[in-house]
Amino acid sequence: MSTNPVEGLLALWEAGTNPLALLRAAEPGAGDDGLARLPVGARDGKLIAHQRRLFGPAIEATVPCAECGETAEVTLDADSLLAMAPEEVAPIAITSGAWRIEARPADSHDMAALAMKEPEAAERALLARVVTLCTRDGAPADPANLPPEVVAAIEDALEAADPLAAITLLVACPHCGASIPALHDPAHHFARSVAAEARRLLAEVAALARAYGWREADILAMTPQRRAAYLELAA
Ligand SMILES: [Zn+2]
Repeated sequence: MSTNPVEGLLALWEAGTNPLALLRAAEPGAGDDGLARLPVGARDGKLIAHQRRLFGPAIEATVPCAECGETAEVTLDADSLLAMAPEEVAPIAITSGAWRIEARPADSHDMAALAMKEPEAAERALLARVVTLCTRDGAPADPANLPPEVVAAIEDALEAADPLAAITLLVACPHCGASIPALHDPAHHFARSVAAEARRLLAEVAALARAYGWREADILAMTPQRRAAYLELAA
Protein backbone atom coordinates (compact mmCIF):
# COMPACT_ATOMS: atom_id res chain seq x y z
CA MET A 1 0.00 0.00 0.00
CA SER A 2 1.30 3.47 -0.87
CA THR A 3 2.22 5.73 2.05
CA ASN A 4 -0.73 8.01 1.18
CA PRO A 5 -3.84 5.88 1.92
CA VAL A 6 -5.86 7.76 -0.70
CA GLU A 7 -3.31 7.03 -3.46
CA GLY A 8 -3.24 3.42 -2.24
CA LEU A 9 -7.00 3.17 -2.57
CA LEU A 10 -6.99 4.62 -6.09
CA ALA A 11 -4.19 2.22 -7.10
CA LEU A 12 -6.38 -0.66 -5.88
CA TRP A 13 -9.32 0.67 -7.88
CA GLU A 14 -7.16 0.97 -11.01
CA ALA A 15 -6.01 -2.64 -10.54
CA GLY A 16 -9.52 -3.81 -11.49
CA THR A 17 -11.13 -7.05 -10.31
CA ASN A 18 -8.50 -9.74 -10.92
CA PRO A 19 -7.56 -11.17 -7.49
CA LEU A 20 -3.82 -11.28 -8.17
CA ALA A 21 -3.79 -7.75 -9.65
CA LEU A 22 -5.65 -6.50 -6.55
CA LEU A 23 -3.19 -8.18 -4.20
CA ARG A 24 -0.22 -6.77 -6.13
CA ALA A 25 -1.73 -3.28 -5.79
CA ALA A 26 -2.36 -3.84 -2.07
CA GLU A 27 1.16 -5.17 -1.47
CA PRO A 28 3.40 -3.41 -4.01
CA GLY A 29 6.51 -4.31 -2.00
CA ALA A 30 5.87 -8.07 -2.20
CA GLY A 31 7.56 -10.08 -4.97
CA ASP A 32 5.20 -10.60 -7.94
CA ASP A 33 6.03 -14.29 -8.32
CA GLY A 34 5.66 -14.93 -4.60
CA LEU A 35 2.11 -13.55 -4.68
CA ALA A 36 1.27 -15.53 -7.85
CA ARG A 37 2.47 -18.73 -6.16
CA LEU A 38 0.30 -18.29 -3.07
CA PRO A 39 -2.38 -20.98 -2.84
CA VAL A 40 -5.64 -19.48 -4.10
CA GLY A 41 -7.28 -19.61 -0.66
CA ALA A 42 -4.27 -18.05 1.05
CA ARG A 43 -4.29 -15.31 -1.61
CA ASP A 44 -8.00 -14.68 -1.08
CA GLY A 45 -7.43 -14.65 2.70
CA LYS A 46 -5.00 -11.76 2.18
CA LEU A 47 -7.66 -9.94 0.14
CA ILE A 48 -10.18 -10.47 2.96
CA ALA A 49 -7.64 -9.07 5.45
CA HIS A 50 -7.15 -5.98 3.23
CA GLN A 51 -10.92 -5.57 2.91
CA ARG A 52 -11.17 -5.75 6.71
CA ARG A 53 -8.37 -3.18 7.17
CA LEU A 54 -10.01 -0.66 4.81
CA PHE A 55 -13.73 -1.30 5.29
CA GLY A 56 -14.19 -3.19 8.56
CA PRO A 57 -15.15 -6.80 9.33
CA ALA A 58 -18.71 -6.85 7.89
CA ILE A 59 -18.87 -8.09 4.29
CA GLU A 60 -22.30 -7.48 2.73
CA ALA A 61 -23.15 -9.94 -0.02
CA THR A 62 -26.26 -10.43 -2.13
CA VAL A 63 -27.35 -13.78 -3.52
CA PRO A 64 -30.05 -14.23 -6.18
CA CYS A 65 -32.67 -16.86 -5.27
CA ALA A 66 -33.18 -19.41 -8.05
CA GLU A 67 -36.63 -20.35 -6.65
CA CYS A 68 -38.40 -16.97 -6.51
CA GLY A 69 -36.04 -14.61 -8.33
CA GLU A 70 -35.70 -12.25 -5.35
CA THR A 71 -32.35 -11.27 -3.90
CA ALA A 72 -31.24 -12.41 -0.45
CA GLU A 73 -28.78 -10.34 1.55
CA VAL A 74 -26.20 -11.88 3.82
CA THR A 75 -23.52 -10.33 6.02
CA LEU A 76 -20.30 -12.30 6.36
CA ASP A 77 -17.78 -11.70 9.10
CA ALA A 78 -14.22 -11.25 7.82
CA ASP A 79 -12.77 -12.49 11.11
CA SER A 80 -14.77 -15.73 10.99
CA LEU A 81 -13.62 -16.32 7.41
CA LEU A 82 -10.00 -15.60 8.30
CA ALA A 83 -10.26 -17.95 11.29
CA MET A 84 -11.03 -20.82 8.86
CA ALA A 85 -7.62 -20.51 7.22
CA PRO A 86 -4.64 -22.53 8.42
CA GLU A 87 -1.47 -20.63 9.28
CA GLU A 88 0.28 -22.30 6.37
CA VAL A 89 -1.43 -24.12 3.50
CA ALA A 90 0.32 -27.48 3.08
CA PRO A 91 0.41 -30.03 0.23
CA ILE A 92 -1.79 -33.12 0.64
CA ALA A 93 -1.11 -36.85 0.49
CA ILE A 94 -3.89 -39.42 0.19
CA THR A 95 -4.19 -43.15 -0.33
CA SER A 96 -7.33 -44.48 -2.00
CA GLY A 97 -7.40 -48.19 -2.84
CA ALA A 98 -4.28 -48.91 -4.90
CA TRP A 99 -3.72 -45.22 -5.59
CA ARG A 100 -1.28 -43.01 -3.75
CA ILE A 101 -1.47 -39.30 -4.57
CA GLU A 102 0.41 -36.20 -3.50
CA ALA A 103 -0.78 -32.79 -4.66
CA ARG A 104 -0.35 -29.09 -3.92
CA PRO A 105 -3.16 -26.52 -3.68
CA ALA A 106 -3.72 -24.51 -6.87
CA ASP A 107 -2.19 -21.02 -7.21
CA SER A 108 -2.81 -18.01 -9.47
CA HIS A 109 -0.51 -19.40 -12.19
CA ASP A 110 -2.72 -22.52 -12.33
CA MET A 111 -5.89 -20.43 -12.50
CA ALA A 112 -4.48 -18.29 -15.32
CA ALA A 113 -3.58 -21.43 -17.28
CA LEU A 114 -7.16 -22.76 -16.98
CA ALA A 115 -9.00 -19.53 -17.65
CA MET A 116 -10.14 -20.27 -21.22
CA LYS A 117 -10.96 -23.98 -20.81
CA GLU A 118 -14.32 -25.75 -20.55
CA PRO A 119 -15.09 -26.97 -16.98
CA GLU A 120 -14.30 -30.66 -17.65
CA ALA A 121 -11.09 -29.92 -19.53
CA ALA A 122 -10.15 -27.43 -16.81
CA GLU A 123 -10.55 -30.06 -14.09
CA ARG A 124 -8.26 -32.49 -15.94
CA ALA A 125 -5.70 -29.78 -16.72
CA LEU A 126 -5.71 -28.62 -13.10
CA LEU A 127 -5.11 -32.18 -11.82
CA ALA A 128 -2.20 -32.57 -14.24
CA ARG A 129 -0.69 -29.37 -12.85
CA VAL A 130 -1.18 -29.88 -9.10
CA VAL A 131 -0.59 -33.64 -8.72
CA THR A 132 3.07 -34.02 -7.77
CA LEU A 133 3.08 -37.79 -7.24
CA CYS A 134 0.72 -40.42 -8.63
CA THR A 135 1.27 -44.15 -8.20
CA ARG A 136 -0.93 -47.24 -8.57
CA ASP A 137 0.19 -50.35 -6.70
CA GLY A 138 3.49 -48.56 -6.16
CA ALA A 139 4.16 -47.97 -9.88
CA PRO A 140 4.10 -44.48 -11.45
CA ALA A 141 0.72 -43.76 -13.05
CA ASP A 142 -0.84 -41.01 -15.16
CA PRO A 143 -3.21 -38.70 -13.18
CA ALA A 144 -5.36 -38.59 -16.35
CA ASN A 145 -6.39 -42.20 -15.55
CA LEU A 146 -7.55 -41.49 -11.99
CA PRO A 147 -11.05 -42.86 -11.27
CA PRO A 148 -13.70 -40.23 -10.39
CA GLU A 149 -13.88 -41.25 -6.71
CA VAL A 150 -10.13 -40.67 -6.30
CA VAL A 151 -10.41 -37.32 -8.09
CA ALA A 152 -13.22 -36.39 -5.67
CA ALA A 153 -11.07 -37.45 -2.69
CA ILE A 154 -8.18 -35.30 -3.96
CA GLU A 155 -10.51 -32.31 -4.41
CA ASP A 156 -11.93 -32.75 -0.90
CA ALA A 157 -8.46 -32.96 0.63
CA LEU A 158 -7.27 -29.87 -1.27
CA GLU A 159 -10.36 -27.93 -0.23
CA ALA A 160 -9.74 -28.86 3.42
CA ALA A 161 -6.06 -27.85 3.10
CA ASP A 162 -6.87 -24.43 1.58
CA PRO A 163 -10.42 -23.72 2.80
CA LEU A 164 -10.70 -20.11 1.62
CA ALA A 165 -10.23 -21.25 -2.00
CA ALA A 166 -13.95 -22.10 -2.13
CA ILE A 167 -16.09 -20.25 0.43
CA THR A 168 -19.51 -21.84 0.16
CA LEU A 169 -22.59 -20.26 1.70
CA LEU A 170 -26.08 -21.55 2.31
CA VAL A 171 -28.38 -18.56 2.56
CA ALA A 172 -32.05 -18.82 3.57
CA CYS A 173 -34.15 -16.75 1.15
CA PRO A 174 -36.17 -14.23 3.23
CA HIS A 175 -38.88 -14.15 0.55
CA CYS A 176 -39.65 -17.85 -0.09
CA GLY A 177 -37.57 -19.68 2.53
CA ALA A 178 -35.52 -21.68 0.02
CA SER A 179 -31.92 -22.52 0.88
CA ILE A 180 -29.68 -20.81 -1.68
CA PRO A 181 -26.22 -22.32 -2.19
CA ALA A 182 -23.66 -19.69 -3.20
CA LEU A 183 -19.94 -19.17 -3.53
CA HIS A 184 -18.42 -16.11 -1.93
CA ASP A 185 -15.80 -14.40 -4.12
CA PRO A 186 -13.53 -12.26 -1.89
CA ALA A 187 -11.82 -10.48 -4.81
CA HIS A 188 -15.16 -9.48 -6.33
CA HIS A 189 -16.36 -8.03 -3.03
CA PHE A 190 -13.10 -6.27 -2.30
CA ALA A 191 -13.07 -4.72 -5.79
CA ARG A 192 -16.67 -3.58 -5.36
CA SER A 193 -15.96 -1.94 -1.97
CA VAL A 194 -12.85 -0.27 -3.40
CA ALA A 195 -14.74 1.03 -6.45
CA ALA A 196 -17.51 2.55 -4.31
CA GLU A 197 -14.96 4.35 -2.12
CA ALA A 198 -12.90 5.48 -5.14
CA ARG A 199 -15.99 6.95 -6.82
CA ARG A 200 -16.90 8.81 -3.62
CA LEU A 201 -13.36 10.20 -3.39
CA LEU A 202 -13.21 11.25 -7.05
CA ALA A 203 -16.57 13.00 -6.71
CA GLU A 204 -14.99 15.07 -3.90
CA VAL A 205 -11.96 15.83 -6.07
CA ALA A 206 -14.19 16.89 -8.97
CA ALA A 207 -16.31 19.16 -6.74
CA LEU A 208 -13.25 20.83 -5.17
CA ALA A 209 -11.48 21.21 -8.53
CA ARG A 210 -14.60 22.87 -9.97
CA ALA A 211 -15.02 25.17 -6.98
CA TYR A 212 -11.41 26.21 -6.40
CA GLY A 213 -9.41 25.11 -9.48
CA TRP A 214 -7.03 23.01 -7.36
CA ARG A 215 -4.95 20.15 -8.78
CA GLU A 216 -5.97 16.52 -8.17
CA ALA A 217 -2.69 15.70 -6.40
CA ASP A 218 -3.12 18.63 -3.98
CA ILE A 219 -6.72 17.69 -3.18
CA LEU A 220 -5.80 14.03 -2.61
CA ALA A 221 -2.95 15.08 -0.31
CA MET A 222 -5.41 16.76 2.07
CA THR A 223 -6.81 15.05 5.15
CA PRO A 224 -10.44 13.90 4.82
CA GLN A 225 -11.38 16.58 7.39
CA ARG A 226 -9.99 19.40 5.24
CA ARG A 227 -11.62 18.08 2.09
CA ALA A 228 -14.96 17.88 3.93
CA ALA A 229 -14.58 21.43 5.30
CA TYR A 230 -13.72 22.91 1.87
CA LEU A 231 -16.63 21.03 0.32
CA GLU A 232 -18.96 22.55 2.90
CA LEU A 233 -17.58 26.05 2.21
CA ALA A 234 -18.02 25.55 -1.54
CA ALA A 235 -21.65 24.51 -1.21
ZN1 LIG B 1 -36.58 -17.11 -2.73
